[in-house]
Amino acid sequence: MPTAPRTHRPGGYGDVLDLVRSRAATSRADIARLSGLSPSTASARVDTLLRRRLVREEGDGPSSGGRRPRRIVLDPGLGTVAAVDLSAHQATLGLVDAGGAVTAFAEVDVDLVDGPEATISAVAAHLERMREPAMGPLLAACVGVPGPVAPGRDVVVSAARMPGWNGTDVSALLEARLHVPTVVENDANLVALGELALRPHAGGQVVAVKIDSGIGCGVVVDGALYRGAGGMAGDISHSAVPGSPAVPCSCGRTGCLDVVASGSALMEALREAGRDVETADDLVRLIRDADPLATNLLRESGERVGAVLATVVSFFNPSLLVLAGQVSSAAAFTSAVTSTIYASCLPATTESLEIAPSQDGVRAGVHGAARVALDTAFADESVEAMLRDGARR
Ligand SMILES: [Zn+2]
Repeated sequence: MPTAPRTHRPGGYGDVLDLVRSRAATSRADIARLSGLSPSTASARVDTLLRRRLVREEGDGPSSGGRRPRRIVLDPGLGTVAAVDLSAHQATLGLVDAGGAVTAFAEVDVDLVDGPEATISAVAAHLERMREPAMGPLLAACVGVPGPVAPGRDVVVSAARMPGWNGTDVSALLEARLHVPTVVENDANLVALGELALRPHAGGQVVAVKIDSGIGCGVVVDGALYRGAGGMAGDISHSAVPGSPAVPCSCGRTGCLDVVASGSALMEALREAGRDVETADDLVRLIRDADPLATNLLRESGERVGAVLATVVSFFNPSLLVLAGQVSSAAAFTSAVTSTIYASCLPATTESLEIAPSQDGVRAGVHGAARVALDTAFADESVEAMLRDGARR
């Protein structure tokens, strides 16, 4: 990823493999140029990676005048990572090959209220069913959750919409079933990373807002996730919305963004007006049918989200603001968010800002989870273990 910071030891095997994985380098000359290694050292690194079957040579690369060099690519048999995006009633699952291509994808009904053990068991069992021998070994996994995650500890903290999950080490639960290194991350953070991976030219300053039953927000600074001191960076769900009704919130205050603009708040308002809305799917159906009351409520919700995001945009000056989640599929919502931001922010702030829907819909979180899982699978120490013990096959 051109905008992502380099996290490997410069010139090490992990660094060289990263250049091949991201397709930034397809020849020994590219690797020497981009890594800063001498041509002979770069070539020796490639020979070792070839011998240990982490990369292979194929076809002909671009010619620079002389004999056309063979193209260096990742060995496709290297393995697969598992990417999981959990939301209140659904788990979105992807298996992704070492080069970043999605090889299997599924949406599974779960209920986070059933608790971590039952949910993670169901997810692990489904991932096992999706795997095929040709995909090679499982290398790593990443699971996104709709709540804050303590930085560096993989523990869910104060997640209002995940009753029974507080303090749970989600990565340990999944790791015990899949037997590979597993990372847990906030779902909106994964959307931010996934969108950045899908739009390498969008600049490295990204805010991704995911509006489903709750509201989450992920922040990327200079291509890397910004979590804040306690993992709460970007948590706008309890921001006070000026002029909003005094609806009581689970945090003890009233008029928080979550209770006046989230999918749950919309469903509550629709139920009070006599509409038959039980699940997020019912809400999506009303949105698709352009139900007049739903459209009005979506516009109002968009104005409230836009009012909070205008402050975020003015403060942070992002290059990309992504609107993800089921509620964001409604044009009435996204146009209200966009017009509120444009009306509230200085032109100097918005002229460099792109506001866009998530590029791959429900898969955005899976793309981000895949990126985190691949970075885990190809961390320096993992690559050194593969070189020492041979890649698992
Ligand atoms: Zn609140």
